[in-house]
Amino acid sequence: MSDIISLLPESIANQIAAGEVIQRPASVVKELLENSIDADSTVIKLIIKNSGKSLIQVVDNGKGMSETDARMSFERHATSKIKEANDLFCIKTMGFRGEALASIASIAEVELITRQEDQELATRIKIKSSNIQDQEYCQAETGTSIAVRNLFFNVPARRKFLKTDSVELKYILEEFKRVALSHPDIKFKVIHNDNELYNLPGTSLKKRVLGIFRKSYEEKLIRIDEDTDILKISGFVGNPEIARKQKGEQYIFVNNRFIKNHYLNHAIKNAYDTLIQDDQVPFFIVFLELDPDRIDINVHPSKQEIKFDDERLVYNYLKVSVKHALGRYSLSPQLDFDNEQSEIRSAGSIPHPRRSPSNHFSNTQASTTRSAPVMRNWQSLYKGLDDINLDDDEDNTDQDDLTIPSAASGDLLSNLCHIENDEKEPFQLHNNYIVVQIRNGFLIINQHHAHIRILYERYLKKLNQREELIQKQLFPISVQIAKDKIDLFNDLLTPLKRLGFEIQSFGGETYVVHGIPAGFDDNNIQDIMDTFVEQYLQNMNLELSKNENLARSMAMSAALKGGKSLSNEEMKALINDLFACEMPYTNPNGKKCFITYELDELEKQFG
Ligand code: ADP
Ligand code: MG
Repeated sequence: MSDIISLLPESIANQIAAGEVIQRPASVVKELLENSIDADSTVIKLIIKNSGKSLIQVVDNGKGMSETDARMSFERHATSKIKEANDLFCIKTMGFRGEALASIASIAEVELITRQEDQELATRIKIKSSNIQDQEYCQAETGTSIAVRNLFFNVPARRKFLKTDSVELKYILEEFKRVALSHPDIKFKVIHNDNELYNLPGTSLKKRVLGIFRKSYEEKLIRIDEDTDILKISGFVGNPEIARKQKGEQYIFVNNRFIKNHYLNHAIKNAYDTLIQDDQVPFFIVFLELDPDRIDINVHPSKQEIKFDDERLVYNYLKVSVKHALGRYSLSPQLDFDNEQSEIRSAGSIPHPRRSPSNHFSNTQASTTRSAPVMRNWQSLYKGLDDINLDDDEDNTDQDDLTIPSAASGDLLSNLCHIENDEKEPFQLHNNYIVVQIRNGFLIINQHHAHIRILYERYLKKLNQREELIQKQLFPISVQIAKDKIDLFNDLLTPLKRLGFEIQSFGGETYVVHGIPAGFDDNNIQDIMDTFVEQYLQNMNLELSKNENLARSMAMSAALKGGKSLSNEEMKALINDLFACEMPYTNPNGKKCFITYELDELEKQFG
């Protein structure tokens, strides 16, 4: 019998490899952009026609290739980036498999033009289905241009599987954003069907984020910056105002490479706690840097999956860092302004030394003058970090409770400072809402929600600090507790004492109240106790810590209700107390405490 085993022709082997690396036009975009970055480019242009189905071209000003390298680059396993097997375990460069160009050239028509700085002429190579069609010298700028035409022309099955133009374009732009976000110092241009979609100058990460998303995010971004022995975390998270019901503005990069990791997304979301609603996702662009030995990025060919040697540790660090940032921001939202020198992330283990945009206007003075009130939060957060090392239980509840992050919108606090200056009196609407004028608009505060927030933070603090609230002695008042709740209620008497309630069992269902917190209305103690016990029971489904449940339930039952008329003094006190809260935005149930209207919006309504 004759031999039946034969080697696959190179072009077919390439096509098979291509199936793994190149699924759609967006994959080509990703590979080409990454190659340009690896070549130390500072300006990169992406030109697309018909969502990449007709043309994908990347033009860069990087180091280019010699004539031999230009030819070699299309060979499978041709790479200038791996010299030995060991290199595979590091993810120092963007691409590292030496397969991309060979794969692309096997399923499209490719034209490469490249010149190194010291060469007089550029090399032009045309290649189609892995066959070199043409090679010649030509004039060209230093750098490389790779044009990929008619992708999948020889793999009709693949071509048929492509989605509509608008969907494919969306995938392309998604890849582009990931690359552009992780390289803010590189100038990028994107042109689709002769329309310029992006023109992004080389800049700081913050400006890049604004350039890619919305200018209006300017004051809604909260910087993260934490450095530990194991892990460095930087980037931005959005304040709760820009949380969305739909995903799409969430990015995590590990060693400057975009990754998908639900677990880490969850860490960030979790840090927002009650700041956002359960069905909302926060905005984030977060960069983690850690020793490449601690990760395995090669688990999936598209290189977006990643394994950490200690995922739980990363989770905890990330969560605490985000909390830290949110907490710090609430106290001092302006801290970040113009303070961009800190964000030029040191490339660390990533060997892309690049000319940093010159931005050396140090703002340390501003930061030091503002840092005093921040310290308390910082310390408790670091306490959280220390604990993680010893015991990686992520639910450090008591710790967390103390540091519930807050996030007043960028100019909210500064606007509020103007309340007093303007001396405009607040006024009440329908005995439910308080309207306050601020610099460029007005706020409408929901008095009930706001008061819940105020009491909640006050109570939680007392409970966690094991201090007692100042008490007011009463002529004893008796209250009744339903039989089936007596055991629970007895359990809560001690913590209730810390909140200022001096309550004694009088046998059976009867209790006597001797003291209540100062400032408390003593007319409806029975009501308050009923609601409190009811709330506490309901909240037991929520996996809250005991202190948190207590603080929540008591805040809900004791808070000022809607329908109560307030004096000017009472309104002002409520406004002040609300904005002294760590998290004035929402009450612990996620309900908004106030909404803002800007004059612009109002003006628009009048058309
Ligand atoms: P890899 O990036 O994994 O090395 P590729 O197939 O993507 O494999 O690229 C092969 C080689 O071609 C690279 O290692 C690099 O030397 C060269 N190359 C590709 N694109 C460029 C570019 N834009 N500028 C300079 N060299 C490039
Ligand atoms: Mg590559």
